[in-house]
Amino acid sequence: LVAVDQSSASSGNVNVLRRINLRVYDGEFMVLVGPSGCGKSTLLRVIAGLEELTGGKIWVGDRMVNDLPPKARNIAMVFQNYALYPHLSVYDNIAFGLRRTRVGLDYEKASTEKPLWVENALIRMTRSLPKQWRYFSDRERAIDDQVRYVAQLLQIEPLLNRRPKQLSGGQKQRVALGRAIARNPQVFLMDEPLSNLDAKLRAQTRSQIVRLQRQLGTTTLYVTHDQTEAMTMGDRIAVMNQGEIQQIAPPLELYNHPANRFVAEFIGSPP
Ligand code: ATP
Ligand code: MG
Repeated sequence: LVAVDQSSASSGNVNVLRRINLRVYDGEFMVLVGPSGCGKSTLLRVIAGLEELTGGKIWVGDRMVNDLPPKARNIAMVFQNYALYPHLSVYDNIAFGLRRTRVGLDYEKASTEKPLWVENALIRMTRSLPKQWRYFSDRERAIDDQVRYVAQLLQIEPLLNRRPKQLSGGQKQRVALGRAIARNPQVFLMDEPLSNLDAKLRAQTRSQIVRLQRQLGTTTLYVTHDQTEAMTMGDRIAVMNQGEIQQIAPPLELYNHPANRFVAEFIGSPP
């Protein structure tokens, strides 16, 4: 469960979010829509901890996360522009978050004797050596399992050794998803992750995201401009305007019973 209580945020002297209340239930896929500039990305960023609140509280599960840094919130965010590390291979892009934290993997006990940075340095130093000389700890083995599992889920196994610049847009997007999934987060935040893809690929990736979300059961908040995505992907849709949530309802209910004129016009309900 993600709960946003009475939360506000401003940039400069503009109130970008005004006392937002929002609850995304465990395992729910919630879609967030609204006109450009209404504050959707800002809302995701404050939940992720990338932007400050001026008031209110954010909860993830039973933890109030206001004072936690992004890394400690157990949230993975997927952006429109993928934000892959260009100098790292696909494999290392997916493994990146796993190397930095121990969140979500059950190898916590496996290696407590060495600090993470020492292990990581050893892994880097010995990576180009033949297999039998490589430093391959229990933790690295667990990371390797996880990377390969995710690559298989997203059908990107053949791409693991490539760099991001050697990938198509859709492949990059799947790697970005893979990186988010690999950490096995409690929450996914996705900000228009498909908007750079062509129609066919968008449809494909859309159903892949929905399938994955059902499979993993990860609580998801998904921003989109695309009406089809909103109506087909979400368990519920939240409609936002000028920093306020106008209505939250399942797609059909929203369409048939818009709470006000703004929602009706935005969703295109029949008059
Ligand atoms: P879009 O659909 O175009 O992505 P959005 O709903 O995601 O829009 P936000 O990016 O959250 O909107 O922006 C909300 C408001 O905050 C806008 O009025 C925007 O101009 C303002 N804003 C966002 N980022 C900044 C910034 N870095 N500095 C100043 N104002 C900002
Ligand atoms: Mg945005």
